[in-house]
Amino acid sequence: MKYVYIDTMGCQMNKSDTERMLGMLLNFGYEETKSPQKADLLIVNTCSIRQLSEDKAFSAVGTWGKWKKEYKKNIKIGFCGCVAQQKAEEIFKRAPYVDFVLGTHKIYSLPEILERINNGEKVCECTETNKTEDITAKNYKINRVKGVNAWIPISEGCNNFCTYCIVPYTRGRERSRLPEIIIHEAKEALSSGYKEITLLGQNVDSYGKDFKDRNYRLADLLKELNGLSGKFRIRFVTSYPTDITDDLIKTALELDKVCEYFHIPMQSGNSEVLKAMNRRYDRETYSKIINKVRSMIPDVTITSDFIAGFPGETEEQFVDTLTAIDEFELDYCNVAAYSPREKTVAAKWTDKFVPENIKNERFQRLNKKIQENCLKSNKKYLNREMEVLIESFYEHKGKKINSGKTRNFKTVHIPCHEDLTGKFVNVKITDAKTWYLKGELKEK
Ligand code: SF4
Repeated sequence: MKYVYIDTMGCQMNKSDTERMLGMLLNFGYEETKSPQKADLLIVNTCSIRQLSEDKAFSAVGTWGKWKKEYKKNIKIGFCGCVAQQKAEEIFKRAPYVDFVLGTHKIYSLPEILERINNGEKVCECTETNKTEDITAKNYKINRVKGVNAWIPISEGCNNFCTYCIVPYTRGRERSRLPEIIIHEAKEALSSGYKEITLLGQNVDSYGKDFKDRNYRLADLLKELNGLSGKFRIRFVTSYPTDITDDLIKTALELDKVCEYFHIPMQSGNSEVLKAMNRRYDRETYSKIINKVRSMIPDVTITSDFIAGFPGETEEQFVDTLTAIDEFELDYCNVAAYSPREKTVAAKWTDKFVPENIKNERFQRLNKKIQENCLKSNKKYLNREMEVLIESFYEHKGKKINSGKTRNFKTVHIPCHEDLTGKFVNVKITDAKTWYLKGELKEK
């Protein structure tokens, strides 16, 4: 038996790639270990969204390289993911102990790479293919993380080229995975006991635009998935604002398994900054989209992403972001201070960079605003009865707690002695905190 350890950084797409790589490795006699010291094969699956994450990846392989030099000569080290795709051969210069570099485009070539490195070769596979075949599973089972939710990528890459974003360079152009493969993966996940399917993509709403042989979009995929038997939930992330169609909102409303939840990144509340970011909408257009989703889907939760301190952002423009969060009643937002990424357009605007201290101060103010809004949003559900899918069971300060999510993505903590993980329960909401709701069980 050989052991593999994978350190996964970054977004859910990377986590999904790790599940796929593990699935392939199990076919080749590897077993997953959570202990890097025990592993024969060590892989870092990297993220290039922020410099910090890239530095962490090099630090991890640096430690493994030391072990290899000093006392574990036979271990193999792999450098995968977005930083690999971006830097390719350069990785070997900075980390000569790495045995293979595998980009995001061809993760399904991992078995052949293993064979080659076991024959003593150093391999770099970072070819950009942009072909649908390369994102098609090749009969390997996916080694999903245990839980109630199964992530299923429905597309890869992005065509939008927002001026701050590295994704089009690391994940390539937008390619949709074939619906038959997605349905097959969903059926497998459901028959293994998963209770929720989350469809993943950089822009899920543009799913299918690249199909040449069929007219098939996200709404069609949702309808097919909704028709699968059994009780389960369907979610989809991330939505690009202007790609959300009326048909999609209507379909999401009508299908009983599709949850009342949209993640719609706005990035800035100011139209000039949005233009500089190369986002294809202004504040007013975003407002219209949000209002439409809210008016059509009762109790919908809308979350968003924002960047603090984009190059050239003035104090007034930043305040527009704070007011947007209030005006659009965003239920939760992820925020990040701007981090320049090599190759991107905005990274060249060094003369417009916002000083670190101002960037960080805006980041703190954004976080404070989000906390206030989260609490306000949670309070709307006090005394309501809601369905919760239990995700975990744990003990806190001597009390046993079941924790899960409502259909509209609110976390609920329910005191209860019995482990109800994987069950749908009805709960009365008794208290609202900033990050979660408290509830009591109505019936099992
Ligand atoms: S839409 Fe913009 S931010 Fe999102 S992945 Fe594409 S380029 Fe990046």
